[in-house]
Amino acid sequence: MTELTVLDRAACQRRDADDPLRGFRDDFIIPTDTIYLDGNSLGARPKGAAERAAAVIEDEWGEGLIRSWNTAGWFELPAALGEKVSGLVGGGDGSTVVTDTTSINLFKAASAALRIQAEDRPERRVILTQRENFPSDIYMLQGLAEQLDDGYEVRLVDDAEVTAGFPTTMTDEVALVVLTHVNYRTGRLFDMRSTTEAIHAGGALAIWDLCHSAGALPIDLAGGGADMAVGCTYKFLNGGPGSPAFIWVAEEHRNRFAQPLSGWWSHAKPFEMSPGYAPAEGIRRFLTGTQGIVSMSVAEVGLDVAARADMGAVRAKSLELSDLFIELVETRLSHHPVEIVTPREHEHRGSQVSIAHEEGFAIMSALIARGIIGDYREPSILRFGLTPLYLGFADVWDTVEALRDILDNRLWDTPEFKVRGAVT
Ligand SMILES: *Cc1c(COP(=O)(O)O)cnc(C)c1O
Repeated sequence: MTELTVLDRAACQRRDADDPLRGFRDDFIIPTDTIYLDGNSLGARPKGAAERAAAVIEDEWGEGLIRSWNTAGWFELPAALGEKVSGLVGGGDGSTVVTDTTSINLFKAASAALRIQAEDRPERRVILTQRENFPSDIYMLQGLAEQLDDGYEVRLVDDAEVTAGFPTTMTDEVALVVLTHVNYRTGRLFDMRSTTEAIHAGGALAIWDLCHSAGALPIDLAGGGADMAVGCTYKFLNGGPGSPAFIWVAEEHRNRFAQPLSGWWSHAKPFEMSPGYAPAEGIRRFLTGTQGIVSMSVAEVGLDVAARADMGAVRAKSLELSDLFIELVETRLSHHPVEIVTPREHEHRGSQVSIAHEEGFAIMSALIARGIIGDYREPSILRFGLTPLYLGFADVWDTVEALRDILDNRLWDTPEFKVRGAVT
């Protein structure tokens, strides 16, 4: 017998009470009277982050001084944290380091992949990426193509072309395809395994950007056949503002690739201080120079919380939250011109709900003024990131009700909600 479910706040609270991930909320410090729906842009602060930063500054730096490179494990942090990220994205042992930014890591990975192709398939000069990719990824690829100055060209493809397996764009000119796993604006999720198969069938290599999927859903990088991958730790992994990114390389390329930012941290024996370059074996080869140890140490706190969570349960709750969000928008905001742009099919949905409305910016400003924090992305998109570790079903209810009040009463329509800061 199917139960008739009444959708009201009490029903959402009951779901919160039954939520197996509910306890994780206590692992985070979220300001009171705040519903945080921007964990896909900057994750919330895990408990212990401030204490970790203080311990690094006061004890490891203050007392240990330079000895801490060895005694506090600073030198090994990129690889040690890499193992933790790898556990979350199915990378395998010795496959991942945490270092630099996503933009810089993408430049290194794309350059390394093109060098592999220059040996294996030397005629190929085209890099494909999504037209709707996060712009920094496109800019980095264009910068790399110009830098190489050898006829390399970046071609932009529509999301539908990617989903269909590149029927019109995969030619024997394509050396490399760089794809972001979840579209940052719409929340569309691409299937890694089948898409990578299509890329390999065309003779190209595949780099995946996991910024919007790492920590939000189960990922099987090694099993999915990817060649290289990059991603953030400050979004769903809650590593802190500007925390270092990660970079992963498949086993078959691991001792073969060469990257362009070949600083001393990528050297086989950095402290021999030799004038001759010799790359380290394995993934350390993707390092460049000295890292921000305070930021890296704090990132570990977020990774340790994620490591305790079952990614299957995280994904299940994420889909339940986004289903609820979509259903509430459809039933309670149906008298307003709002359009849900996030795909309805679970297999095509990441961990966010995006809604288009012409006055999106002012509406989001009005929500933020009430402590309900999402963000706005051009054009006209209100973006709500759903982090299952600290977000509940009643939070989603309250968010949609606040939206309803703001829309019904045109509360967004005041000059103060139309002023834009440098960061939106
Ligand atoms: C967030 C994000 C970035 C950010 O890159 P940074 O170098 O950390 O500024 C890059 N790519 C994608 C797809 C992102 O979502």
